[in-house]
Amino acid sequence: MKHTKGNEWKLPLKQKRAPIVEPVSELNRIKIKDNGEPLIDALKLLKRSEIHPDRKDYKKKAPYKFHGREQLVDMLRTAEKALPRKHKFVLWGIYRGMDEQIKIYKEVYKHFKKKNSHWPKNILRRQTNRFVHPPDIKTPPGHSTGGAVDLSIIGPNGKPLDMTAPYDAKSDERRRVAATFSPWLSDEARQNRKILIHAMNEAGFTNYGGEWWHWSYGDSCWAWRERRKVAIYGPATLPDKKS
Ligand SMILES: [Zn+2]
Repeated sequence: MKHTKGNEWKLPLKQKRAPIVEPVSELNRIKIKDNGEPLIDALKLLKRSEIHPDRKDYKKKAPYKFHGREQLVDMLRTAEKALPRKHKFVLWGIYRGMDEQIKIYKEVYKHFKKKNSHWPKNILRRQTNRFVHPPDIKTPPGHSTGGAVDLSIIGPNGKPLDMTAPYDAKSDERRRVAATFSPWLSDEARQNRKILIHAMNEAGFTNYGGEWWHWSYGDSCWAWRERRKVAIYGPATLPDKKS
Protein backbone atom coordinates (compact mmCIF):
# COMPACT_ATOMS: atom_id res chain seq x y z
CA MET A 1 0.00 0.00 0.00
CA LYS A 2 1.16 3.47 -0.82
CA HIS A 3 1.37 5.92 2.06
CA THR A 4 1.40 9.65 1.80
CA LYS A 5 1.64 12.17 4.57
CA GLY A 6 -1.72 13.55 5.66
CA ASN A 7 -1.02 17.13 4.75
CA GLU A 8 0.00 16.28 1.20
CA TRP A 9 -3.60 16.06 0.16
CA LYS A 10 -5.09 18.69 2.39
CA LEU A 11 -7.67 20.76 0.64
CA PRO A 12 -7.96 24.35 1.64
CA LEU A 13 -10.33 23.57 4.53
CA LYS A 14 -11.75 26.98 5.22
CA GLN A 15 -11.69 26.58 8.99
CA LYS A 16 -8.69 27.86 10.95
CA ARG A 17 -7.71 24.55 12.63
CA ALA A 18 -8.53 20.84 12.31
CA PRO A 19 -6.44 18.65 14.66
CA ILE A 20 -7.61 15.20 15.73
CA VAL A 21 -7.69 16.29 19.37
CA GLU A 22 -9.66 19.36 20.41
CA PRO A 23 -8.43 20.14 23.94
CA VAL A 24 -11.21 20.00 26.52
CA SER A 25 -9.67 22.77 28.65
CA GLU A 26 -9.81 25.15 25.70
CA LEU A 27 -13.31 24.09 24.64
CA ASN A 28 -14.53 24.73 28.18
CA ARG A 29 -13.28 28.31 28.00
CA ILE A 30 -15.55 29.14 25.05
CA LYS A 31 -18.55 31.17 26.13
CA ILE A 32 -21.99 30.26 24.88
CA LYS A 33 -24.49 32.91 23.89
CA ASP A 34 -27.31 30.85 22.45
CA ASN A 35 -29.06 32.76 19.68
CA GLY A 36 -32.31 30.89 20.37
CA GLU A 37 -32.74 29.39 16.91
CA PRO A 38 -35.25 26.54 17.07
CA LEU A 39 -34.64 22.92 16.18
CA ILE A 40 -36.42 22.04 12.94
CA ASP A 41 -36.99 18.81 11.05
CA ALA A 42 -34.24 18.62 8.42
CA LEU A 43 -35.96 15.77 6.56
CA LYS A 44 -38.80 18.11 5.62
CA LEU A 45 -36.47 20.57 3.90
CA LEU A 46 -33.62 18.54 2.47
CA LYS A 47 -33.99 17.45 -1.15
CA ARG A 48 -30.95 15.29 -1.82
CA SER A 49 -30.45 13.47 1.47
CA GLU A 50 -31.61 10.16 2.83
CA ILE A 51 -31.49 8.39 6.15
CA HIS A 52 -28.81 5.75 6.63
CA PRO A 53 -30.37 2.24 6.51
CA ASP A 54 -29.16 1.59 10.10
CA ARG A 55 -31.11 4.62 11.33
CA LYS A 56 -34.47 3.91 9.70
CA ASP A 57 -36.03 2.99 13.04
CA TYR A 58 -35.05 6.28 14.68
CA LYS A 59 -38.63 7.35 15.43
CA LYS A 60 -39.01 4.84 18.23
CA LYS A 61 -35.72 5.55 20.01
CA ALA A 62 -34.81 9.12 19.14
CA PRO A 63 -37.63 10.98 17.35
CA TYR A 64 -35.61 14.21 17.02
CA LYS A 65 -32.52 12.57 15.51
CA PHE A 66 -32.92 14.47 12.25
CA HIS A 67 -33.82 17.81 13.76
CA GLY A 68 -31.18 20.54 13.61
CA ARG A 69 -30.90 24.25 14.24
CA GLU A 70 -32.53 26.35 11.53
CA GLN A 71 -29.26 27.72 10.18
CA LEU A 72 -27.61 24.29 10.15
CA VAL A 73 -30.46 22.86 8.07
CA ASP A 74 -30.24 25.81 5.70
CA MET A 75 -26.51 25.18 5.31
CA LEU A 76 -27.17 21.53 4.55
CA ARG A 77 -29.39 22.72 1.68
CA THR A 78 -26.45 24.75 0.38
CA ALA A 79 -24.15 21.73 0.75
CA GLU A 80 -26.62 19.58 -1.22
CA LYS A 81 -26.38 22.05 -4.08
CA ALA A 82 -22.58 21.80 -4.00
CA LEU A 83 -22.66 18.01 -4.51
CA PRO A 84 -21.81 16.63 -7.97
CA ARG A 85 -24.77 15.64 -10.16
CA LYS A 86 -26.70 12.54 -9.09
CA HIS A 87 -24.97 12.42 -5.71
CA LYS A 88 -26.88 12.56 -2.42
CA PHE A 89 -26.12 12.78 1.25
CA VAL A 90 -26.74 9.88 3.57
CA LEU A 91 -27.43 11.04 7.12
CA TRP A 92 -26.55 9.21 10.32
CA GLY A 93 -27.96 11.86 12.57
CA ILE A 94 -28.05 15.44 13.79
CA TYR A 95 -29.61 16.02 17.22
CA ARG A 96 -28.81 13.83 20.20
CA GLY A 97 -30.29 14.23 23.66
CA MET A 98 -27.98 13.92 26.66
CA ASP A 99 -29.42 10.49 27.54
CA GLU A 100 -28.48 9.17 24.13
CA GLN A 101 -25.05 10.82 24.35
CA ILE A 102 -24.34 9.12 27.70
CA LYS A 103 -25.50 5.76 26.34
CA ILE A 104 -23.26 6.00 23.25
CA TYR A 105 -20.29 7.13 25.36
CA LYS A 106 -20.67 4.12 27.64
CA GLU A 107 -21.00 1.74 24.68
CA VAL A 108 -17.83 2.99 22.99
CA TYR A 109 -15.92 2.99 26.31
CA LYS A 110 -16.96 -0.61 26.92
CA HIS A 111 -16.00 -1.57 23.39
CA PHE A 112 -12.44 -0.26 23.83
CA LYS A 113 -12.19 -1.84 27.28
CA LYS A 114 -13.15 -5.23 25.90
CA LYS A 115 -10.61 -5.04 23.07
CA ASN A 116 -7.84 -3.58 25.23
CA SER A 117 -8.23 -4.96 28.73
CA HIS A 118 -4.69 -3.81 29.67
CA TRP A 119 -5.39 -0.11 29.00
CA PRO A 120 -5.56 2.08 32.13
CA LYS A 121 -8.64 4.22 32.67
CA ASN A 122 -7.11 7.48 31.46
CA ILE A 123 -6.11 5.92 28.12
CA LEU A 124 -9.54 4.32 27.73
CA ARG A 125 -11.14 7.65 28.39
CA ARG A 126 -8.87 9.54 26.01
CA GLN A 127 -9.51 7.01 23.25
CA THR A 128 -13.28 7.14 23.83
CA ASN A 129 -13.22 10.94 23.83
CA ARG A 130 -11.76 10.84 20.35
CA PHE A 131 -14.93 9.26 19.02
CA VAL A 132 -17.63 10.51 21.37
CA HIS A 133 -17.81 13.91 23.00
CA PRO A 134 -17.67 13.22 26.76
CA PRO A 135 -21.08 13.98 28.30
CA ASP A 136 -19.62 15.02 31.65
CA ILE A 137 -17.58 18.09 30.70
CA LYS A 138 -18.72 21.72 30.72
CA THR A 139 -18.85 21.98 26.92
CA PRO A 140 -22.09 20.51 25.58
CA PRO A 141 -21.68 17.80 22.91
CA GLY A 142 -22.15 19.27 19.42
CA HIS A 143 -25.02 16.95 18.60
CA SER A 144 -26.89 18.03 21.74
CA THR A 145 -26.83 21.62 20.52
CA GLY A 146 -28.45 20.71 17.18
CA GLY A 147 -25.38 22.18 15.50
CA ALA A 148 -23.57 19.01 14.40
CA VAL A 149 -24.31 16.47 11.68
CA ASP A 150 -22.84 13.06 10.82
CA LEU A 151 -23.07 12.23 7.15
CA SER A 152 -21.57 10.66 4.06
CA ILE A 153 -22.39 10.55 0.33
CA ILE A 154 -24.28 8.16 -1.95
CA GLY A 155 -23.00 7.98 -5.52
CA PRO A 156 -24.94 7.93 -8.83
CA ASN A 157 -25.29 4.13 -8.61
CA GLY A 158 -27.21 4.43 -5.34
CA LYS A 159 -24.34 3.01 -3.29
CA PRO A 160 -22.41 4.84 -0.58
CA LEU A 161 -19.07 6.24 -1.73
CA ASP A 162 -16.12 4.39 -0.22
CA MET A 163 -14.70 6.66 2.46
CA THR A 164 -12.67 4.08 4.43
CA ALA A 165 -10.68 1.87 2.00
CA PRO A 166 -8.44 -0.05 2.49
CA TYR A 167 -10.71 -0.91 5.44
CA ASP A 168 -14.26 -2.12 5.13
CA ALA A 169 -16.81 0.48 6.18
CA LYS A 170 -18.45 -2.04 8.49
CA SER A 171 -15.29 -3.43 10.06
CA ASP A 172 -13.82 -2.34 13.35
CA GLU A 173 -10.65 -1.33 11.55
CA ARG A 174 -12.45 1.57 9.91
CA ARG A 175 -11.56 3.59 13.02
CA ARG A 176 -7.95 3.56 11.88
CA VAL A 177 -8.89 5.91 9.09
CA ALA A 178 -11.39 8.02 11.04
CA ALA A 179 -9.14 11.08 10.92
CA THR A 180 -10.28 13.23 8.00
CA PHE A 181 -6.82 13.46 6.44
CA SER A 182 -5.67 9.99 7.40
CA PRO A 183 -2.45 9.03 5.57
CA TRP A 184 -3.58 5.39 5.34
CA LEU A 185 -6.46 5.86 2.91
CA SER A 186 -6.67 4.46 -0.59
CA ASP A 187 -6.59 6.99 -3.43
CA GLU A 188 -10.24 6.34 -4.16
CA ALA A 189 -11.37 6.97 -0.59
CA ARG A 190 -9.31 10.14 -0.54
CA GLN A 191 -10.98 11.40 -3.70
CA ASN A 192 -14.39 10.60 -2.22
CA ARG A 193 -13.62 12.49 0.98
CA LYS A 194 -12.61 15.47 -1.13
CA ILE A 195 -16.14 15.55 -2.56
CA LEU A 196 -17.60 15.67 0.96
CA ILE A 197 -15.09 18.27 2.15
CA HIS A 198 -15.83 20.46 -0.85
CA ALA A 199 -19.60 20.41 -0.39
CA MET A 200 -19.46 21.04 3.37
CA ASN A 201 -16.85 23.77 2.98
CA GLU A 202 -18.99 25.56 0.44
CA ALA A 203 -21.82 25.67 2.96
CA GLY A 204 -19.63 26.98 5.78
CA PHE A 205 -19.41 23.93 8.04
CA THR A 206 -16.30 23.07 10.06
CA ASN A 207 -15.02 19.53 10.39
CA TYR A 208 -13.74 17.66 13.44
CA GLY A 209 -10.32 16.48 12.22
CA GLY A 210 -10.66 13.18 14.12
CA GLU A 211 -13.81 12.10 12.26
CA TRP A 212 -14.32 12.67 8.54
CA TRP A 213 -18.12 12.37 8.94
CA HIS A 214 -18.68 14.93 11.73
CA TRP A 215 -19.38 18.54 10.72
CA SER A 216 -20.63 21.39 12.78
CA TYR A 217 -21.75 24.98 12.90
CA GLY A 218 -22.44 27.19 15.89
CA ASP A 219 -21.38 24.84 18.70
CA SER A 220 -18.34 25.26 20.97
CA CYS A 221 -16.15 23.02 18.81
CA TRP A 222 -17.02 25.09 15.76
CA ALA A 223 -16.03 28.23 17.68
CA TRP A 224 -12.74 26.64 18.74
CA ARG A 225 -11.91 25.60 15.17
CA GLU A 226 -12.60 29.12 14.00
CA ARG A 227 -10.63 30.69 16.89
CA ARG A 228 -13.77 32.43 18.13
CA LYS A 229 -14.40 33.11 21.79
CA VAL A 230 -18.16 32.65 21.70
CA ALA A 231 -20.37 29.82 20.47
CA ILE A 232 -23.93 30.57 19.34
CA TYR A 233 -25.51 27.21 20.21
CA GLY A 234 -25.80 25.68 23.68
CA PRO A 235 -27.87 22.59 24.50
CA ALA A 236 -30.94 22.69 22.26
CA THR A 237 -34.50 22.90 23.53
CA LEU A 238 -36.81 20.32 22.03
CA PRO A 239 -39.76 21.61 20.06
CA ASP A 240 -43.05 21.72 21.96
CA LYS A 241 -44.65 18.32 21.39
CA LYS A 242 -48.14 19.79 21.41
CA SER A 243 -47.59 21.99 18.35
ZN1 LIG B 1 -20.93 13.36 15.14
